[in-house]
Amino acid sequence: MTQRHITIIGAGQSGLQLGIGLLEAGFAVTMVSNRTPEEIREGKVSSSQCIFHDALEHERSLDLDFWPDAPTVDGISFTVPHAEIPGEKAIGWASRLDNPAKSIDQRVKFPRFMDAFVQRGGELIFQDAGVEDLERHARGSDLVIVAAGKGEIAQLFTRDVQRSTYDAPQRALALTYVNGMTPRSEYSAVSFNLIPGIGEYFSFPALTTTGPCEIMVFEGIPGGPMDCWKGLTPQEHLETSKNILNTYLPWEADRASDVELTDPNGFLQGRFPPTVRHPIATLPSGKHVLGLADVVVLNDPITGQGSNNASKCAASYLKSITEHGDGAFDPAFMQATFETYWNYARHVAHWTNALLAPPPPHVLQILTAANESQEIANRFVNGFNNPPDYQEWFMDPDKAATYLASVDAARVP
Ligand SMILES: Cc1cc2nc3c(=O)[nH]c(=O)nc-3n(C[C@H](O)[C@H](O)[C@H](O)COP(=O)(O)OP(=O)(O)OC[C@H]3O[C@@H](n4cnc5c(N)ncnc54)[C@H](O)[C@@H]3O)c2cc1C
Repeated sequence: MTQRHITIIGAGQSGLQLGIGLLEAGFAVTMVSNRTPEEIREGKVSSSQCIFHDALEHERSLDLDFWPDAPTVDGISFTVPHAEIPGEKAIGWASRLDNPAKSIDQRVKFPRFMDAFVQRGGELIFQDAGVEDLERHARGSDLVIVAAGKGEIAQLFTRDVQRSTYDAPQRALALTYVNGMTPRSEYSAVSFNLIPGIGEYFSFPALTTTGPCEIMVFEGIPGGPMDCWKGLTPQEHLETSKNILNTYLPWEADRASDVELTDPNGFLQGRFPPTVRHPIATLPSGKHVLGLADVVVLNDPITGQGSNNASKCAASYLKSITEHGDGAFDPAFMQATFETYWNYARHVAHWTNALLAPPPPHVLQILTAANESQEIANRFVNGFNNPPDYQEWFMDPDKAATYLASVDAARVP
């Protein structure tokens, strides 16, 4: 069998991981990046990229764990401030993850993965690919995959109205990468805070270009007091981050009183509508290209799943491609490849989109019950590694009632 050639547009989490996997499987791979490693390293932060165990395992299976000593995220805490008593918590619990998560700044990770891709025989070219470029790559490749994240070229893939829940941004997003935060006592964690009617704040340890740091993530409800990031200087962005904690989350403000930005590019603000797209785009010539990861299933970061999805989507596509043998990479193959991934990703989208809406009574009941039950806290926390589990007990009121009753029944008096 002659060696088959695959071109991937976009050298981010999914494109690099899939490209490296395809090289190992014996394919010739061309990767197209619109940013050089230097531009990525010296540019702005783009994500908080906390990746849980199963997705990290996909990277490890490709020998891509280049940061074994990076800070770990060992658990998740969940807090809701009391509505009437300032400074008090209405809900406050934490649990350990069964296996640690990690966040490696994409400015650190992508250049290193690019190196690995080239060292392992891949062709890396720098180009801001447009439709003409896609046509050229489609003529010279057996398959073209578009892994351009939120890049404009993703618009070639039309929105799937049936599978998309929202058509507008649901949160004003902000990231603040900092040094000097007081560590959580006991164990490191995603410290997740839900401020009803205002938005969410979470922070966790990570590795950035300057070394270990903490990432602060703000998810403000549009038009509300946490939608306040546009046009700020780096220093104003930092001060705004601290002010929000002082106003709503005093226990987080205490940890963050002395924080400083890790670097002048350690902040970000933006917003986008969570969107599911049709996985195949047809070029003017009639040739087809296949979308990967954020291009096809773009979630709000509230549940921290985008990089996890990107890793899992890359692993799923790699399996579909290698198992296809010498079959044609035609639209039927492309649709089937996406549907296999969607069978997983639909659960992530369903759960993530639900958390963007005000919590229904059964969700409030679960989150409150976790105050008293380590079993519930533990199951909720470990669902971040495997979101389809939420369908079994969290997403549906009847299943939630059955689950809560079973936990109650199992409790030793
Ligand atoms: C504020 C925020 C916080 C987040 N926090 C988390 C988190 O904690 N956990 C988590 O799992 N996920 C998180 N995410 C999401 C996560 O970063 C993304 O979902 C993930 O990086 C998507 O991977 P991807 O491969 O689809 O795209 P990307 O990783 O974005 O890669 C796409 C690449 O394609 C390149 N590109 C774009 N257009 C072109 C073109 N025309 N030609 C060539 N190259 C092109 C881009 O420069 C980029 O390098 C967060 C996102 C945001 C915005």
